[in-house]
Amino acid sequence: FDKRDGVIWMDGKLVPWTDAEVHVLTHGLHYASAVFEGERAYNGTVFKLNEHSQRLIDSGKILGFDIPYSLDEINAATNLVLEKQGFQNAYLRPIAWRGSEMMGVSAQNNTIHLAIAAWEWPSYFDPAQRLKGLRLDIAEWRRPDPKTAPSKSKAAGLYMICTLSKHAAEKKGYADALMLDWRGQVAECTGANVFFVKDGVIHTPTPDCFLDGITRRTVIGLAKARGIEVVERAIQPEELEGFQQCFITGTAAEVTPVGEIGPYRFEVGTIVQTLMDDYMTLVQRKTGDAAAA
Ligand code: PMP
Repeated sequence: FDKRDGVIWMDGKLVPWTDAEVHVLTHGLHYASAVFEGERAYNGTVFKLNEHSQRLIDSGKILGFDIPYSLDEINAATNLVLEKQGFQNAYLRPIAWRGSEMMGVSAQNNTIHLAIAAWEWPSYFDPAQRLKGLRLDIAEWRRPDPKTAPSKSKAAGLYMICTLSKHAAEKKGYADALMLDWRGQVAECTGANVFFVKDGVIHTPTPDCFLDGITRRTVIGLAKARGIEVVERAIQPEELEGFQQCFITGTAAEVTPVGEIGPYRFEVGTIVQTLMDDYMTLVQRKTGDAAAA
């Protein structure tokens, strides 16, 4: 990944991909003082760019820092990277972090950096597995209480337990893991939100200790537009047995059906298929209203 052609936007300039480096004494590396975004462009337009850039700014504020660029500047830089990379369809990764001036837990005055990269990433999961429905493990790690970690920030540190859970699942042959929260309730996957279907009604956990994903909110809107009832509530793991369909949502994952979670089985049913199609139709609209929807 570190040796590619192309450019990365870094602290206000476009730099060659191979030169986009940071010092080893970077605070963000040692103490996880970093926040990031995951965005996708379809047909040359970044889907919900404004919401992603705003979440990046808010994530930084939650970690106690101000990104030294305005919303408009971040949007413009993101569009510039996409244009310079020459991609119509791409994944974009903005990241902001505390720099290297002070080394220690306290780093109040370290410079805040921002970088934005873009690459081609057609499918987050294996396309064949996607069609059949993913196989998910149930993670041993749990999403922390919001009093234990800043769960509303898309903060790098929160991904430590995600990588641990995803690696453990992959070692057992699963595509990903479903994570419970500290109370033992169903929370989300390692990089996506989760939904269930029972008797034509969609059920999804209340996002009180994990990201209320931009894709999650989009898909809830699409379901409601189809007249499908969506219930946000606490979901216990014992309930998994009674659900007929399951899917996950995320910028990278888009809408992906789930075929099994541990011992439980789900069909790739009509509601999942409808929402997959509706989501792809929405994101691929080239008009400005896709960004506004
Ligand atoms: N939860 C986690 C842990 C994630 O990393 C993501 C991806 N950003 C999501 C949920 C889904 O968020 P979004 O739909 O905004 O991409």
